[in-house]
Amino acid sequence: MTQMIYDTVVVGGGIIAAAAGQHLVAAGYRTLLVERDHYGAGTSSRTSRVQHCGLGYLSAASGSIAAFLARPFDEIECLSLMRRSMRGRAEFVRVAPERVRPVTFIIPLMPGNAIPRWKAKLAFLLMAASDGGAVPLNLNTLSAKEARTHPALQGMAGLEDIRGTMNFTEYQYHWPERIVVKTVMKARAIGIEALNHIAVTGLAREGELWRMTLKATGRSRDVLARAVVNCAGVWIDEITALAGAPHIRKNTGEKGTNIVVRLPERLRGIAFKTVTATGAPFYLIPWGQLHYIGPWDSQSDGGLEGFRASEAKIATILDQFGRLFPGFGLKRKDVLYAWAGVRRRSLAPDSKSSVPAVREHDLIDEGLPNVFTFTDGLLMSHRDAGRRVTRAVARRLKPSGSPRPRDAPSPPLPDMDQVTEASVAHAVMNEHASTPADILRSRLSVGWEPDLGRCHLETAAGLAAPSWIGPRRSGDANCRFQRKNDNRIQISDISIRNDAAHRSAK
Ligand SMILES: Cc1cc2nc3c(=O)[nH]c(=O)nc-3n(C[C@H](O)[C@H](O)[C@H](O)COP(=O)(O)OP(=O)(O)OC[C@H]3O[C@@H](n4cnc5c(N)ncnc54)[C@H](O)[C@@H]3O)c2cc1C
Repeated sequence: MTQMIYDTVVVGGGIIAAAAGQHLVAAGYRTLLVERDHYGAGTSSRTSRVQHCGLGYLSAASGSIAAFLARPFDEIECLSLMRRSMRGRAEFVRVAPERVRPVTFIIPLMPGNAIPRWKAKLAFLLMAASDGGAVPLNLNTLSAKEARTHPALQGMAGLEDIRGTMNFTEYQYHWPERIVVKTVMKARAIGIEALNHIAVTGLAREGELWRMTLKATGRSRDVLARAVVNCAGVWIDEITALAGAPHIRKNTGEKGTNIVVRLPERLRGIAFKTVTATGAPFYLIPWGQLHYIGPWDSQSDGGLEGFRASEAKIATILDQFGRLFPGFGLKRKDVLYAWAGVRRRSLAPDSKSSVPAVREHDLIDEGLPNVFTFTDGLLMSHRDAGRRVTRAVARRLKPSGSPRPRDAPSPPLPDMDQVTEASVAHAVMNEHASTPADILRSRLSVGWEPDLGRCHLETAAGLAAPSWIGPRRSGDANCRFQRKNDNRIQISDISIRNDAAHRSAK
């Protein structure tokens, strides 16, 4: 039997792989996407869920002239990243309005970070010009007097010294895992083959092709590819190591943690952007009736610890929050749950530090022909990443098929915010959900309710049972399905992880 040869195999099933897969298949490449966990299970499920407008990049690039002259390329890169953020924001709000919500962010201007109103207005004009004003930022600057009486700021430390606030609209993803799944499903609708719960475990050159070994529980098979698109997030260097090139290192990681708490009613729906004493970003972001607070970034590899919210990090975030709003007296017992993840960063040439650079890498000059990797891709600019990867592949390889519409209209879905026979059947039959965590966290939104979906687990498992036999374990929701002699399906060992070191629910 002749073996199928793919034009491109995309490694990973996070947002960058999903976007790369969607763009490659739309360009006519016969493509396979392979994810070792469930779609979106990696860093894509650990974000702060914000489609940032790029203000952070602008402030990074707006130091003194001396700073600019000292590192002109970094500064220009920051401006270009801001422009991409604004364009990515406009594009995503246009193509997936149902997956984003506008949220008002407040930046308190304190003596240490206050800028004059005209500067704030100039910065926002520059940002608005970057997307042609397609999605308004709605900047509203408050004077010191107005800020002091703003209900959301009551209880804030140093309110008597506040110089004013900048209030503006950011967009929040509802919810990133679903965006990953939807992007994979859009790609499937135009011909991609996509698999989750299957890992790439081998990669070897065979003539002009790459032989890739794919492994699922208890079985493995090989596929052949003309090109490999490595979108394995913080694990990309592991994939190049599989190809016998462990010296090729493109990635370093940074761990971030968020905690979820219930804040007073008057803060409902309001977000804050501040910075820590060291200048790192610190956010309070609404999530339904709750808020999440973080991230607290620190160096990390892709190891398990990076994906666990440690008690030390939770304590640090509580401490930082206490400095901002001392009157609230938040304690460890007020933390409903927490999550952590590792964002990948492009490794600087010194192989130690990171650089603020989104990069596609064609590894031909490093001895790996037709192997491409992508570093520092963000949720908020994933479509741009998809385009860039496709352009890089196109410079080396012609597609074997013809182009297709990238965003073909998809058929109406059942309500994926509710656990119903229709939504669970859709998740299992059409969206490759094969564990309870797949259903609750990435296909349906109920896994993000305050109890992390615990109250829906049994119902969801019961509805999925006819399609599933045997143990189903993934992430933090487990259960076992067995067919009994009378053909009934018994569900046992149902659990959702509830330890503070990972995500915990009360
Ligand atoms: C705390 C935090 C907050 C953030 N906040 C934001 C934000 O507000 N907005 C924003 O835009 N971005 C944010 N980010 C960044 C964003 O989450 C990431 O840049 C993005 O999710 C990276 O996606 P990815 O596809 O590259 O990686 P991942 O989502 O990690 O996907 C890589 C996938 O590759 C798979 N994989 C690994 N090895 C193999 C293998 N051998 N075989 C098959 N599959 C494999 C993994 O299982 C994983 O699912 C945040 C990140 C963190 C950590």
